[in-house]
Amino acid sequence: MWKRLFDSRWFYWVALALMLVLFTLSQVRFGTNPRPMATPEAIAGLSEIEDLNIVFILIDTLRADRLGAYGHERATSPAIDALAADGLRFARNMSQSSWTKCSMASMWTAHYPVRTGVTRSEDAISSDAQMPAEILREAGYETYALWRNAWVGPSFGFSQGFEVYHSPRPSPIPPSIRREKPTTGVAGTDQDIIHSAREFFRTHGEKRFFLYLHLMDVHQYVYDEASALFGTTYSDIYDNSIHWEDRLVGSLVADLDRRGLREKTLIVLASDHGEAFGEHGREGHARDVYSEVVTTPLIISFPFRLAEPLVVDAVSENVDLWPTLLDLLGLPPIEGANGRSLVPEIQASIAGEELESAPRYAHIDQSWGRKDEDPQPMVAVTEGPYRLIYREAGRGPRRAELYAYASDRQESRRIDNEEPEVRERMIGLAQAYLESEAPAWGDAPEIELNDAQLQQLRALGYEVE
Ligand SMILES: [Zn+2]
Repeated sequence: MWKRLFDSRWFYWVALALMLVLFTLSQVRFGTNPRPMATPEAIAGLSEIEDLNIVFILIDTLRADRLGAYGHERATSPAIDALAADGLRFARNMSQSSWTKCSMASMWTAHYPVRTGVTRSEDAISSDAQMPAEILREAGYETYALWRNAWVGPSFGFSQGFEVYHSPRPSPIPPSIRREKPTTGVAGTDQDIIHSAREFFRTHGEKRFFLYLHLMDVHQYVYDEASALFGTTYSDIYDNSIHWEDRLVGSLVADLDRRGLREKTLIVLASDHGEAFGEHGREGHARDVYSEVVTTPLIISFPFRLAEPLVVDAVSENVDLWPTLLDLLGLPPIEGANGRSLVPEIQASIAGEELESAPRYAHIDQSWGRKDEDPQPMVAVTEGPYRLIYREAGRGPRRAELYAYASDRQESRRIDNEEPEVRERMIGLAQAYLESEAPAWGDAPEIELNDAQLQQLRALGYEVE
């Protein structure tokens, strides 16, 4: 009988059909995109989803304009672009500083740098500040962070609200991986974070979680042979490292898919600042607040897919990030915040409208790393079609440069003489910003940096005294 069965043509047809059915089923369960389609109106219903997770991916030093989703002509970022393609993208997002610690303190607390007081190397976030991880933990989320940048270490107050705030042990770097920023020397790569994140999904995926990943390979100009695509200048190598980082992000998203977690996870992708390549005479970051160092991506991928990417064109800022997410999740807002929920802007863009935006600010203390020098604040004010770069007299001369930002996003031509009244009014805004009142929690505490911390910070390429 068996022989007859194997001889029968039908047997092979049935076996083939069975294999096809099994293959198709496996694709449904482990497919690349199991999320349902939805209309943008579904965004308002996110707060109703009871087991919604959050994966917050912070890519340190990522300029928005180097991503395909933001118009870069090179294919640096297919995985990140895919998040934006069926999700939400803020087209003109800005960070609050070009220096990690100052910028991240403002992002988490939703307060401008002048109010967080975290503007110099020894400043820390007050333990009385209200942090999103505390709000999420209170709401029942497991709160877990993986980081590699010493500026967001626990001693500066960044671990508030996290049950686990972990910097993974660096693995040896294989010879196929290059790091071409000569001034930096942080051990390991972001593979260490991705590996730990996947382990976290395996062990904690059943619970409701908030996972914060602070990736550093773009800051470090890390890439491998498969991402050595764009040339040999620093600017090219920066793009290589974005491609490398994008592949890591892609592997993380694929892992969420594989585990069936994607359809109950909100993925948020942001950066703390950009990177300069000589646009205003400087390279790197953490020195000024021109647009190339503070224009950053902000992308939200939902547990469902939108047929068309939703794009908010109004200017947004990283101080708005958490007020927006907390609003979307139906959680209480951060008290006394400068940042505000962008849900009205999201609704306006669904309706095809655009809202007027209020003045927005970026800030760096240009002497942040020099202990014995007085503060030297440089402030950028963005309002309507204009942007002003302002520095009070101190070590250098007073500076007030006005740009027609709406038509000159690179800030390449000053219009001080053409619009003197606008310039004076915006100088007034910058001065009023610098006089802002302290937050409810009072001044920022100062910590004494120990030798190990100083060494870690210098390894990032910063001059810290
Ligand atoms: Zn940074």
